[in-house]
Amino acid sequence: MLVNEMVQLGAKRAYIRELFEYGLRKKAEIGAENVFDFSIGNPSVPAPDEVQEAYKRIAATENTVKVHGYTSATGAMSVREAIARNLDERFGCGARAQNIFVTCGAAPALMATMKAMCVPGAEYIVLAPYFPEYLTFIHAVGGTSVIVPPNTVDFDLHVDEIEPYFTEHTQAIIINSPNNPTGVVYRKESLEALADLLRKKSEEIGHPIYLIADEPYRELVFDGVQVPFIPNLYDNTVVCYSWSKSLSLPGERIGYVYVPDACADSVDLFNAVAGSARALGHICAPATSQYIVEQCCGVMPNIQAYDENRKTLYQGLTEMGYTCVYPHGAFYMFVKAPFGTAMEFSEKAKELNILVPPGDSFGCPGYLRLSTCVSHEMIVKSLTAFRTLIESGR
Ligand code: PLP
Repeated sequence: MLVNEMVQLGAKRAYIRELFEYGLRKKAEIGAENVFDFSIGNPSVPAPDEVQEAYKRIAATENTVKVHGYTSATGAMSVREAIARNLDERFGCGARAQNIFVTCGAAPALMATMKAMCVPGAEYIVLAPYFPEYLTFIHAVGGTSVIVPPNTVDFDLHVDEIEPYFTEHTQAIIINSPNNPTGVVYRKESLEALADLLRKKSEEIGHPIYLIADEPYRELVFDGVQVPFIPNLYDNTVVCYSWSKSLSLPGERIGYVYVPDACADSVDLFNAVAGSARALGHICAPATSQYIVEQCCGVMPNIQAYDENRKTLYQGLTEMGYTCVYPHGAFYMFVKAPFGTAMEFSEKAKELNILVPPGDSFGCPGYLRLSTCVSHEMIVKSLTAFRTLIESGR
């Protein structure tokens, strides 16, 4: 007898994936150039040349036993050292190899971190709109998600709106900036205010509240905007990072958990992350991917294409009357449905071969998430269809 809940989780595809699959069928039917697919966040910019060169060097090595072999579960020491050195050089955070646990991307990093913190009754504060998998992960590790409703004015952090959601069971809050799905980068003042609140609440509650910083979009920022390094603002921060987006390596499955020394119970927490990963079936992150990031963790992404897409789509849509906060990071835009519910609008858009998932699964009905990691040509071509669409609701 199988566990019904898991059967359902596997059988029920997320709406975004459904839309993506629909897009594939539609493209086969009417030609890819006639489908405006804004559904998923698969990087459209190729991995930087440095990555390709590192890949070739690694493939050409004679030491194939090493490059295809197991590494330590925590990651190869040379890789952890390179990651820690890079973090320390960029943020002056004093990171050491011992603080880095190399994972198969951000998703397993989050899962291991959430499980590591999960005492009985643990609550995790999640800010809407959120990456939908957070809820799945929290539930899977035995925790409870406590959702703070969205602030649709600016989609920034507002501590007065978050404060009522703390209880004696709060273990952690999850922060994702630059944000999927809004593209918002939280301001330093907002994060400082959150750090103050977390210190106050930890004191009141009598145990440390952790901040889980989910940062796969850290380097994808525009207009010279800075992404504050949260461990420098709040000691009890654990960073979950991934190169899926920054180096366009989503299929290579590589990322890490950074547990700083300053974090409460740092050594135990690091061991708990390692133990949780082990209990979830982690053996080691793919060895070739590890050696690539060892050589390339200092490489910055080429954000020009995403920047052009963002500007063209934002300008085009807002001129027509769509509304959206200006995204300073990641490769998403969160557009308000100009008529009907977001689901109705998404269905209407489908009739014009525009694929835009509603914000409902991100905990924010009434909005649509547009991935701008697509070809510029598609964006330009889609604008006529977007105009027809908004006019159909007038
Ligand atoms: N967190 C956020 C906010 C994401 O958008 C994603 C992927 O889209 C992930 C985590 C998972 O990333 P990874 O591919 O590294 O597992």
